[in-house]
Amino acid sequence: MTEPADKDAAGNHDAVAIPDDAPLPRTIVEHFAHVDTWVFDLDNTLYPIDSDLWPKIDARITLFLSQMFGLDGMSSMALQKYYYRKYGTTLQGLMLEHRISSDEYLDFVHDIDRTSLVPNHTLAEAIAALPGRRLIFTNGSRDHAIKTAKQLGIDHMFEDVFDIVAGDLTPKPDPNVYARFFDKHGVDPARSAMFEDIVRNLEVPHQRGMRTTLVVPKPGQFDHREPWEVAQEAPAHVDYVTDDLAGFLRGIVGEV
Ligand SMILES: [Mg+2]
Repeated sequence: MTEPADKDAAGNHDAVAIPDDAPLPRTIVEHFAHVDTWVFDLDNTLYPIDSDLWPKIDARITLFLSQMFGLDGMSSMALQKYYYRKYGTTLQGLMLEHRISSDEYLDFVHDIDRTSLVPNHTLAEAIAALPGRRLIFTNGSRDHAIKTAKQLGIDHMFEDVFDIVAGDLTPKPDPNVYARFFDKHGVDPARSAMFEDIVRNLEVPHQRGMRTTLVVPKPGQFDHREPWEVAQEAPAHVDYVTDDLAGFLRGIVGEV
């Protein structure tokens, strides 16, 4: 279900200027009132899009390909982008087109320094105030999600992490991986909400009845994602758009 009339007023969409201290409309509270399960993507959703974490992982993926195929940096990067776009993750491309060990790959690419990420108390409080279960649903590894959430000071707020291994190495947005996620964690999508930075990953959640929120960069914030990952305008399967996840979550529980 989409409420386009509310979208601009509800999310901090570019088209609408909302003063920082303005209360979100009451309708947001109502639109999320039935939700008892809160599902969050990890990378570029739970930490800021201009953080250096994703570029570090990206560089490790390039290095992995470079070492595996004996490629120079530019060729390796081109292959990486090709796999990522075609298969949803570089890993999926490597698994389908070559024989590689997923464990070795996941350990290698997530072996990064996370100390640049500072604990986010505002986000921690906002997540803690959400009524019900909270889960992380990531195309990355469980270990990466736990370490990153720990660094943000929010790891203890989540019941569990559904990672790429739990998804049988199939990434979002493949519909099968959402079905697997719902089954494994006993999630009723009609009573759940999903928060994500990649617009196509919200299509299936919306079809299955989840409330969908696209997390976007703040105006002027550096965005290192691929152009195709970035929505120019929110499509119909996006219920809300926000550039302030913590503020948006507070609005949902009526704390703004
Ligand atoms: Mg993400």
